[in-house]
Amino acid sequence: MKKAWPMIALYSAGFLVSFYYWGLSLNFDPSRVNANALSGLAALLGFTAMGFQLVSAARWRLFEDMAGLDVLLTLHRLMGVLAFVMILFHGGFHMAQNMSAGLTPDGVEGLGVIALFLLTAASITAMAYKGLRLSYEAFRIVHFITVPVYVIGLFHSISLGTTLKSNPDFLTIWYAFAFIAGLSLLKTAAGKLRLFLSRHTVEAVETDSSGITRLHLGAGDLQFTPGQFMFVGAGKGLHALMPHPFTATSVPGSPRLSFAVKECGDFTRGAASLMPGEKVHIDGPYGVFTLPANGIGPADRVLCIAGGIGITPFLAWLRGTPREALPADLVLLWGNKTPSDAVFAAELEDLSRDKGFTVVHAFSRAGGKGIPLDFPGTGVLGRIDAGLLASYGAPLAERHVFVCGPGTMMRDMAKILRAQGVKGSRIHSERFAF
Ligand SMILES: Cc1cc2nc3c(=O)[nH]c(=O)nc-3n(C[C@H](O)[C@H](O)[C@H](O)COP(=O)(O)OP(=O)(O)OC[C@H]3O[C@@H](n4cnc5c(N)ncnc54)[C@H](O)[C@@H]3O)c2cc1C
Repeated sequence: MKKAWPMIALYSAGFLVSFYYWGLSLNFDPSRVNANALSGLAALLGFTAMGFQLVSAARWRLFEDMAGLDVLLTLHRLMGVLAFVMILFHGGFHMAQNMSAGLTPDGVEGLGVIALFLLTAASITAMAYKGLRLSYEAFRIVHFITVPVYVIGLFHSISLGTTLKSNPDFLTIWYAFAFIAGLSLLKTAAGKLRLFLSRHTVEAVETDSSGITRLHLGAGDLQFTPGQFMFVGAGKGLHALMPHPFTATSVPGSPRLSFAVKECGDFTRGAASLMPGEKVHIDGPYGVFTLPANGIGPADRVLCIAGGIGITPFLAWLRGTPREALPADLVLLWGNKTPSDAVFAAELEDLSRDKGFTVVHAFSRAGGKGIPLDFPGTGVLGRIDAGLLASYGAPLAERHVFVCGPGTMMRDMAKILRAQGVKGSRIHSERFAF
């Protein structure tokens, strides 16, 4: 399983450096710690956190391989909150000081006040965009404000920061931090350019009553490993640059790049109305929810647990991996509301015969109708729970378990699996929202 701790260690080292030089500027004398000094510390830590935000947003391959994109984005959110709280404290403190002295901030200080207001706008929209009923796209546009805020903050810290002024070594490190953040920004911009230039033609769009659109594009020379996802941008202008992540379900190397898209909002609804011949932008592949990235081979015992559209990475594995490379003991449990939601059941049944794995469907709301006699596969009524895991997943503690589905299901599964003795290092999960 990919781990968060190397990234946490890296971030902690960055904060410790800032903290150390702040302490050095006070000669490590606790009696010199006053509100002014604490405000300076808050600024240093807040700005360091902002730098880490730029780094985590850049999707560096090294960090993604180390921690996985969802861990990076979780850290990105945490750094955002930390940066906002710290910089708000720093700015609020100095504004209050100025007001009580009847001073109006000007020059670099005035720029700092502007940056604080911009950061507040960006942070509030990021934290509450759902409550504010903003679209994801609007939130992303507002989020770009953080780039000028970072640049102003850098200028402000170098011009006014007393810790930086009193420590030339720290100033050099500070420039090095800013250089890495700047490189990350360039990488993000290059990613947007690559996305814009990577144009794939829509070849076919299949829809049905399940709300799942099967989107088939020309693959070009795109390489990926089954289970990886790509950012897909559709539409004109800025919309094309606000891509959404989807797992590729086609076999690598085939002429078509396919996705199964479950309707849940504006973008996913729009996928159904794409027309053959239209252009779609792709950035990727990303992700480590794959068999090779987790070192899984034929000798391993694997249990896959999918909820709803969370089937896509497993579908990709099962379609795209030859029988001899798949774990010889592989069980797939797929939870859906009703049998008609299990749109890939017939294909999975065929694949299970060809490739020698077991597939079991669990239906939470099949109600009085039960499971139709002609349902293509083994089905049970009810949710995927401890009983079902024990019946079909044994010996659980010896398996690597891969889970992909709604957040609540992933949390429930993790609890059950841990209670059944599956080690955390054997539980692998992919969240379908960042
Ligand atoms: C790694 C990964 C793989 C995925 N694979 C698939 C797949 O194979 N098939 C599928 O149907 N869905 C997949 N999803 C989910 C899909 O990306 C979202 O359902 C889609 O982006 C929702 O967009 P919307 O505009 O339709 O809905 P909205 O109403 O805008 O969003 C619904 C929720 O989806 C999340 N979301 C929206 N936009 C983004 C974005 N750009 N990036 C990350 N999260 C976002 C947010 O949490 C939001 O609250 C995957 C998500 C991730 C993170």
